[in-house]
Amino acid sequence: MQTRILPAADPGTPRIAADLIRQGQLVAIPTETVYGLGADGLNEAAVAGIFRAKGRPQDNPLILHIWGPEQIEQLCHRIPQKAYDLAEAFWPGPLTMVLPARSVVPKATTGGLDTVAVRCPDNEVTRQIIRLSGVPIAAPSANLSGKPSTTTAQHVLHDHDGRIAAIVDGGPCRVGVESTIVDLTEERPRLLRPGGITPEQLTAVLGDLVIDKAVTAQIDKDAVVKAPGMKYRHYAPSEPVVIVSGSREKAAAYIRRHFTPGDRVLCFQEELPLYEGCAPLAYGLEADVNTLSAGLFAALRELDDPGIHQVYARCPVGGGVAYAVQNRLKKAAAFHIVDAEAEL
Ligand code: AMP
Ligand code: MG
Repeated sequence: MQTRILPAADPGTPRIAADLIRQGQLVAIPTETVYGLGADGLNEAAVAGIFRAKGRPQDNPLILHIWGPEQIEQLCHRIPQKAYDLAEAFWPGPLTMVLPARSVVPKATTGGLDTVAVRCPDNEVTRQIIRLSGVPIAAPSANLSGKPSTTTAQHVLHDHDGRIAAIVDGGPCRVGVESTIVDLTEERPRLLRPGGITPEQLTAVLGDLVIDKAVTAQIDKDAVVKAPGMKYRHYAPSEPVVIVSGSREKAAAYIRRHFTPGDRVLCFQEELPLYEGCAPLAYGLEADVNTLSAGLFAALRELDDPGIHQVYARCPVGGGVAYAVQNRLKKAAAFHIVDAEAEL
């Protein structure tokens, strides 16, 4: 199959993409977080195509993308007031809510669960595609399963050329890490995945937020977890990644001491001069965490190269969006972290 590239700015794109979705085809769509691999979320055969194309485990559920908050009621029931409060505060935007699913949502979409994840993305063309298709679009990140997520149309083409019907090219994604996920099916709201909407912003609306253990630690692959996707190896280049924490100087001293040819350093732009001769790659500015979230996956993809032996990575500290960057980088590193302060 020839994969069509549909520029987001072309007036005909939403109609073409929506028709393909209605026909049960796979169409990659831009969102403010990452590119999604989209299909009709209510069509089991189309959804099965997503799992096949990505090589995604069947029990890893998909997020349904909707064009507006009014669509939640078709897909979910027993919706708490908190969900409406969050939608009011953060939609359209990088926030996904897990709610009890209505029977119209196929088990193939929810990975067998009786809850479903829904999100209204902040991308005009994609919302138009969803509206024109008349169905919620199931769309996981468009990378091959386990690999770093896709933040440009070129990343999607690299992973799926010839295997999906079309890619809507909306340019690089603004946020760059996947949506924040909040589970609202229990008494207390629970953060399942950090993202562009920060824990601080959520707590301001909800007054309360439990952080799921899958956010902060490696989860055993046989464990029963709230967010099934969290237990799988994720975001990882082919070679091992180790995070080196501590001050700029101590981290550079540690890395330079351990660096051997074939290794790479993933660092902040401000640190580049410290790693001359160590093949450094900067993913953004430490002083502007939004550049780090926007640049992280493109950098991890660039480092996904069997010729590389080991990656030493620098990770931002603190809350806000840095919390999401830490989560993705720790997962890419399988929670392998060395404290350069303690090592010296
Ligand atoms: P991705 O679409 O690749 O960003 O991954 C979506 C993630 O959302 C999954 O890996 C799950 O961890 C989470 N998720 C989706 N649906 C549910 C659900 N019903 N309950 C809990 N987590 C969910
Ligand atoms: Mg993903």
